[in-house]
Amino acid sequence: MPTEVVDVIRGAPNKLYIAGEFRDATGGGKFATFNPATEEMITEVASAGLEDVDAAVASARKAFESGDWREMSARERGRILWRIGELLRANVEEVAILETIDNGKPIFESLYVDIPMVSEVFQYYAGWADKMHGEVVPVSGKALDYTLREPLGVIAAIVPWNFPLLLASWKIAPALAMGNTVIVKPASNTPLTALKLAEIAAEAGLPPGVLNIVPGRGSVVGNALVEHPDVAKIAFTGETATGQGILRKSADTLKKITLELGGKSPNVVFADADLKAAAAGATIGIFYGKGEVCAAGSRLFVAKSVAEEFIEKVIERAEKMVPGDPMDPKTRMGALVSKNQMETVLGYVEAGKAEGARLRTGGDHVPIDGKGYFLRPAVFDKVDNNMTIAQEEIFGPVLAAIVFEDEEHAISQANDNPYGLAAAVWTRDVGRAHRVASKLKAGTVWVNTYNRYDAAAPFGGYKESGYGRELGMHALEHYTQVKNVWVDLS
Ligand code: NDP
Repeated sequence: MPTEVVDVIRGAPNKLYIAGEFRDATGGGKFATFNPATEEMITEVASAGLEDVDAAVASARKAFESGDWREMSARERGRILWRIGELLRANVEEVAILETIDNGKPIFESLYVDIPMVSEVFQYYAGWADKMHGEVVPVSGKALDYTLREPLGVIAAIVPWNFPLLLASWKIAPALAMGNTVIVKPASNTPLTALKLAEIAAEAGLPPGVLNIVPGRGSVVGNALVEHPDVAKIAFTGETATGQGILRKSADTLKKITLELGGKSPNVVFADADLKAAAAGATIGIFYGKGEVCAAGSRLFVAKSVAEEFIEKVIERAEKMVPGDPMDPKTRMGALVSKNQMETVLGYVEAGKAEGARLRTGGDHVPIDGKGYFLRPAVFDKVDNNMTIAQEEIFGPVLAAIVFEDEEHAISQANDNPYGLAAAVWTRDVGRAHRVASKLKAGTVWVNTYNRYDAAAPFGGYKESGYGRELGMHALEHYTQVKNVWVDLS
């Protein structure tokens, strides 16, 4: 292991973070986190139990009720969030290394995309802290009526392993900006960067108890947060089935819920598109982040007249994405997050072949020096939209190419799926671009591009991809509630 990685691991916090302190789990529980590229253990992390969840909720509740955060001037809250963003930038290498060794994603992605965006998200919401306010309402009669926008209380953020710190920041930053306090339950595969963030936030001046981090099993820690009466809201990203379970359970305490769930996003390429740009977009759309991306363009719809030529171009590009050491700055295809995930993806490759799709390239396990969950990017053609690989979320580097006859056929197939997270359309015809964008049932539609994100642009699902929006001003609605105040003036 390179010395810098050893140093980063040595300095990385690996205990629960509750009430401003790193501490062991009450029962002394720990779990190991592994580097998926080497299959080696990185470190052991404290594993929260029910008593620890109670302590984290009590700490967040106390910090909320005390007013230390909620009643701090909104501008000062914003300054602290801004400083978190600055410190993330100052420590970007260390945080990016942790993300890469824990998740297996290329350091190129962690260093230049993921962690810089985490910093952007904190600084974007820093700006909102003092800009959400109530209004005076013109009611009838002699009365002054106004609204207050108040925080909800304790927010529990339950996050997955694919963008561990980024998806946590989408929840933490707007929640804190609005004066809430937060508990984060990171994914068990990737707990390290959330703990590092706690250290950075404390250095930025966040008061104790405002942000708590409780790694541990989803079925224990996640579940306890969902059931806890003192948690006001769950902000969840993960699988649709887990989200459905959370929604059912949360009914008992009537929690507010936002759910960012799975996807099977269609990428629609018309014959008049800039095919070179579209091929680059289609490749990045599915293979960025090893395809472990909720918005991955996993269904590629291509106009029949250009299908052969276009799929060839995508294959050429896919074959250049050779899996390699994630710590090498030149690597663009890292290791899948776990053996489990790799086996799931390989199972889908087999299902594709068995159902009659044609595997044109990749889809095989290619360990490096005998280790690591590396897969070559897979491209299937001759796919029917009803096949398993076209209907189910694979969450790995597998592309299903499907041919369409005309615009209507493209739209009907694209929408024929339970998910609705994202979609893209590639065409030079501006009328068609807007027409198709309006007809695609997805929370985000990209036109002549793919996988573009910004802290200001709302993101979230239609249909079984969830509800609520993250990022942008729309997220703030989910972290505040409106109080109406009547003042009799008679
Ligand atoms: P999971 O749903 O398995 O896990 C997500 C989080 O929920 C983890 O922290 C997990 O903990 C926790 N969890 C598991 N079981 C429970 C439970 N019963 N109660 C409460 N929490 C629980 O998803 P993955 O981690 O496998 O993530 C991949 C999924 O996330 C994909 O389906 C993907 O599409 C989706 N996703 C959606 C995005 C979006 O914005 N729509 C973005 C990114 C991913 P533990 O790790 O300990 O099991």
